[in-house]
Amino acid sequence: MTAYGILGDVPPTDPEGFLTFLKSLPSPEIYEAVTEGEPLDDAVSHRFPTSLRRRYERLEGFPAGLLIAGDAVCSFNPTYGQGMTVAALSALVLRAHIAGDGLPDPLSYFRDLARDAVDEAWQQALVNDLGFPGVEGPRTPEVLEVQDYIGQLLTVARENSEVMAAYARVISLTEPFRTLRAPQVRQALDLFPQVRA
Ligand SMILES: Cc1cc2nc3c(=O)[nH]c(=O)nc-3n(C[C@H](O)[C@H](O)[C@H](O)COP(=O)(O)OP(=O)(O)OC[C@H]3O[C@@H](n4cnc5c(N)ncnc54)[C@H](O)[C@@H]3O)c2cc1C
Repeated sequence: MTAYGILGDVPPTDPEGFLTFLKSLPSPEIYEAVTEGEPLDDAVSHRFPTSLRRRYERLEGFPAGLLIAGDAVCSFNPTYGQGMTVAALSALVLRAHIAGDGLPDPLSYFRDLARDAVDEAWQQALVNDLGFPGVEGPRTPEVLEVQDYIGQLLTVARENSEVMAAYARVISLTEPFRTLRAPQVRQALDLFPQVRA
């Protein structure tokens, strides 16, 4: 059982405080499910200061024979569950670049890494983080539009398992975000009364 918070809204580790935190969530099901179970152990706390992306692809040069992947390029808020997938995607990019003869070109590797392994996950994390009023950063019209769209989508996903599945594929990084703009998803949103209202 993992509970998490952001910007100081942190779940306490004592049993009573932990349950009180769960009870404060908008959805009662989690609290109800947990109170039916027995804790196996004491709760432990893990703090994560910030997501961090290093833009190696913007450098003008990089030492030959050295490449960087995974968290060392971009480390994500663990609660978003993206880091291992991005590390695995990094490994695929790395494999492609070390397949040829001779040393790979680092900057070409970093450009592919940014595009094929990191961008999608980073954009999702960014849009999510900027949904918290206390997070600093520019809310561009594009960010606000995506936040609004995801808000509508999640409203519909509560009752439409296909929309939920499409959303789950995107947040697990098996499909890109653009698949959520597919006509069948948009149609499901348009048909939903709360979204239309
Ligand atoms: C609490 C927590 C929960 C997480 N939950 C999820 C999740 O649910 N889903 C998800 O996708 N991601 C999750 N992540 C993120 C995920 O663990 C990382 O993104 C992923 O492990 C990154 O892989 P990596 O190989 O780049 O780095 P790491 O897994 O950190 O591997 C780096 C390795 O290098 C070793 N090392 C460091 N320095 C040296 C040195 N000088 N010499 C030799 N070895 C060295 C370290 O010991 C380590 O074994 C979570 C992270 C945390 C902290």
